[in-house]
Amino acid sequence: MNIGVFKFTSCGGCQYSLLDLGESLLKFKISYFTELSSKNIFSPLDLALIEGSVTTNEEENFLKKIRKNARYLVALGACAVSGGIQAIQEDKSSNRIRPYSKPLADFVPVEFELRGCPISKHHLLEVLFSLSVGSMPLLPDYPLCLDCKRKGNPCLIVTKGVLCLGVITQGGCGAICPSKGRGCYGCFGPVKKVNLKAFFKCCLRLGLSEEEAIQALKNSFNGYHPDLRELYENIS
Ligand code: SF4
Ligand code: SF4
Repeated sequence: MNIGVFKFTSCGGCQYSLLDLGESLLKFKISYFTELSSKNIFSPLDLALIEGSVTTNEEENFLKKIRKNARYLVALGACAVSGGIQAIQEDKSSNRIRPYSKPLADFVPVEFELRGCPISKHHLLEVLFSLSVGSMPLLPDYPLCLDCKRKGNPCLIVTKGVLCLGVITQGGCGAICPSKGRGCYGCFGPVKKVNLKAFFKCCLRLGLSEEEAIQALKNSFNGYHPDLRELYENIS
């Protein structure tokens, strides 16, 4: 399997999750990865792994070129999936310092999304090994609260009155933050068929209005995720 790794606007953290795979990475042919080598060949790819959001016309054009050249395209992390924290500026009320920051899926079809800031290396391995043997990767599609229950954590909203985005966030991280007594801030992004009404109910319980709850979401790592954008529009 021929792999290319590309970086757009981002901190580079998700690429380090890839490097963190260590020897497992040697099982794959990587022909393009500027973080790893100065010899990069832009040949037809079985798999393009892309970190970062699209913030310039050059990035948009390069993304389209990669798409034409790759069988599978995977968005790595919150920036590639949702536009990242830099997309907060998309909110009309905030000051814009760049023209835009958008997720890959706003421009090209994306086969798989690896969530998180940064991504989980276990999910990355699932994608790499499954595709290399011709199977479809199995990635989490359940809410984070399920991870929390599996760990036997008491719910922070119910027992401590702490704001936690777990009810609307995709699981798979193992409930890292709630396990340490800290509310989830949604770095894995919205779960499929996200239920904002349930989230608003939790917020109401904590004394937050619907507007404050929406603002908390918009100011998060995945606040510009396409699914959430659609929901904001339907609410307002
Ligand atoms: S603490 Fe957060 S993730 Fe855990 S059950 Fe409560 S809302 Fe869900
Ligand atoms: S608990 Fe939430 S914020 Fe913390 S790592 Fe998991 S998804 Fe990210």
